[in-house]
Amino acid sequence: MNIKKSEIAFEEAKNLIPGGVNSPVRSFNAVKSSPLFISKGEGSFIYDIDDNKYIDYVQSWGPMILGHSDKDVEKATIGAIKNSFGFGAPTLIENELAKEILEVYSFADKIRFVSSGTEATMSAIRLARGYTHKNDIIKFKGCYHGHSDALLVEAGSGAATFGKPSSLGVPEDFTKHTLLAEYNDISSVQKCFEDSDDIACIIIEPVAGNMGLVPADLEFLKNLREICDKNNALLIFDEVMSGFRVSIDKENPYFATTPDIVTLGKVIGGGLPVGAFMAKANIINLLSPDGGIYQAGTLSGNPIAMNAGYATIKKIKELNPYERFSTLANKLMDGFSEIANNHNIGLQTNVRGSMFGFFFSDEEIKNFNDTNKMDKEFFSKFHYEMLQNGVYLACSAYESGFICNTMNEETVNETLGAIEKSIKAIKL
Ligand SMILES: *Cc1c(COP(=O)(O)O)cnc(C)c1O
Repeated sequence: MNIKKSEIAFEEAKNLIPGGVNSPVRSFNAVKSSPLFISKGEGSFIYDIDDNKYIDYVQSWGPMILGHSDKDVEKATIGAIKNSFGFGAPTLIENELAKEILEVYSFADKIRFVSSGTEATMSAIRLARGYTHKNDIIKFKGCYHGHSDALLVEAGSGAATFGKPSSLGVPEDFTKHTLLAEYNDISSVQKCFEDSDDIACIIIEPVAGNMGLVPADLEFLKNLREICDKNNALLIFDEVMSGFRVSIDKENPYFATTPDIVTLGKVIGGGLPVGAFMAKANIINLLSPDGGIYQAGTLSGNPIAMNAGYATIKKIKELNPYERFSTLANKLMDGFSEIANNHNIGLQTNVRGSMFGFFFSDEEIKNFNDTNKMDKEFFSKFHYEMLQNGVYLACSAYESGFICNTMNEETVNETLGAIEKSIKAIKL
């Protein structure tokens, strides 16, 4: 495979942009190679600047649930652009997108839009602290909630990949209110509440996608709800990745436990920069301008981004393709397991709606500590071989994969063919 142009572009980028990338997970450092520069996407496929074509399971790290260059989203977005690019004043489309989202997340009364997932979680925590008049927060090892100071403690994804659980430049004073608990382990949460009577909230990814895909046990989420109620703390579900990726059906177990605040991002912007957080009126009305909790954004609710988000959410709600997505994801993971089994390779897989994840490990992965058991070396080789065989997977073993609307049985079969070839090549 020729990737000469990408290699040259990356050399230039490294002189212009730290590490050559504008977000560390893109760097391919974790798989010890260099990133591909992408020129275009079409449905399930992306093309690099050397004109190689790949099936794309990264989908801009989650947003592109309809596939690339979806015509309806394209039309809505171009239509909006013709009326200028932004005003910093209310526009009708903000109401429309709010209604569509609040219909699915019916526990919440109101939603505020921001421009990234990082802003959404940061603001949600400020809201929880302002509401409860308490300071401490509980987060789980391996959950990623964006890169704000207080949340950059044992975060998964990029932070885990680089073996730096925290970050330089974050004063200890800023993280001393962040208590760490173990995912899927209620006793570790109880211990936090024993250690502190100042806990404002628990923040969790109900389906963790940033330590690979590790869904929370439903019983565990229920227990979190109870422990929050008992201690007058709020429960925040960070669904920036999993929101509109797992299900929109209220009967789905995904919605079995009702949180106090939900954060969204990724899919709700259809590929443009959008985040959001929502809650019941008595909580979210504390936000400025009505209340005393300040939160703002020059580009929040930008009409182009809102239109892309609205077209995406509207279409995904009409299609309601989550059954089909999980059937495809299961077919892919089951086929992968069979291949791995035939080659005596330990593999753990998970599927939730359109999200899938796999670990090269003999043992089940229930939390971040368990991820130590996976073979990252093997993942690097696998990632490389899959690219050679036309499949673009996230460049770290701590990420999830996604099915999108344009994928079908053929996509899955083609991918399984690539998996078979890749494993054979590594085993040679
Ligand atoms: C991606 C992500 C974030 C951060 O969103 P950005 O838009 O990258 O700031 C927060 N929480 C979760 C669960 C995410 O997956």
